Amino acid sequence: LGKLDCPICGAALEIPEDALIGEIFSCDECGTSLEIKEDSGKKLLAEAAHGSEDWGE
Ligand SMILES: [Zn+2]
Repeated sequence: LGKLDCPICGAALEIPEDALIGEIFSCDECGTSLEIKEDSGKKLLAEAAHGSEDWGE
């Protein structure tokens, strides 16, 4: 996939080629949980919904 921008802080995050829609990544810069979404055939990052994906950190 290459790099996608964090919507919160604007950092460019390296996303693996095999990343799937709905996968969660943490931004290295601001620590926000980001979910891969697809919009009009383009992948993008959006802030993940809080609550259901709480890993206790
Ligand atoms: Zn960020």
